[in-house]
Amino acid sequence: MTDRYAVIGNPIGHSKSPLIHAAFALATGQDIEYTAIEGPLDGFKATVEAFIAAGGRGMNVTIPFKLQAFEIATDPMESARLAGAVNALKFEGGRIFAQNFDGLGLVNDIQRNLGVSLAGKRVLICGAGGATRGAILPIAAQKPALIAIANRSADKAHGLKRDFAAHATLQTGGYEELAGERFDVVLNATSTGLTQADLPLAASAFAPGALAYELVYGKGLTPFLKQAQAAGVQHIADGVGMLVEQAAEAFEWWRGVRPDTQPVIARFTVPLV
Ligand code: NDP
Repeated sequence: MTDRYAVIGNPIGHSKSPLIHAAFALATGQDIEYTAIEGPLDGFKATVEAFIAAGGRGMNVTIPFKLQAFEIATDPMESARLAGAVNALKFEGGRIFAQNFDGLGLVNDIQRNLGVSLAGKRVLICGAGGATRGAILPIAAQKPALIAIANRSADKAHGLKRDFAAHATLQTGGYEELAGERFDVVLNATSTGLTQADLPLAASAFAPGALAYELVYGKGLTPFLKQAQAAGVQHIADGVGMLVEQAAEAFEWWRGVRPDTQPVIARFTVPLV
């Protein structure tokens, strides 16, 4: 019988996950069905339970259910526990295993696909929401010289410093506190790529040869990427590789087979113009 998987979110019509997993399944010869489910806002748990009852083996979880997915997990893995959020579930023997592969997907994209090693680098993450939470540990594991987190509401960034104190040393604050500092890798993990708002980020924040990485994907040149270009940054990227890499992690976790991400990233890349 064909094994069933799905992505659950609300809204879900925009999701590329079914196409990405179909491409992985075809390339690796795995017999799976992967659909998109629009979960009712007040019915996440019931929808997941119905999917399990119908033979579902695993799910990806997207906005707005990443926190609820953590709550229903019987076995949250470390990536999910520290992020407090989940983007992949595996159903086995009545248990619900949970992972958060977003951060690992980000790091794999930066290091493997973009060829930028994080070791010894000064890394700035703009934003202190769910994506940043998921990214801290995978980035810290690469031993950068510094992880700084700047957020519009500085208190939220300071909260991350406290939450992750046992696992990573973070420099946190508002954007104005970055005056005079330069970073080799600047990540935009705010939602400004979607809202088209500018970040209060000084041009001097980008060190010579810096990578500017926008986590939002498929939006072309976002205000953040335009700011980076105006500051002379030549190496820019958006989050399409992160999306495909986190999907590859989930696929391997479920199926035990690692898909080749390159052709899938190429297929979904929108030019940064
Ligand atoms: P959250 O809603 O959890 O966090 C949003 C962050 O954006 C907050 O830190 C918020 O600051 C900040 N922000 C919003 N508006 C502004 C503004 N005008 N100026 C400055 N800061 C602002 O979102 P997520 O962390 O879940 O996601 C962040 C982005 O990453 C999203 O755009 C999402 O699409 C993308 N993403 C991409 C993935 C991929 O696979 N490529 C995976 C996951 C996320 P404050 O706290 O002050 O409100």
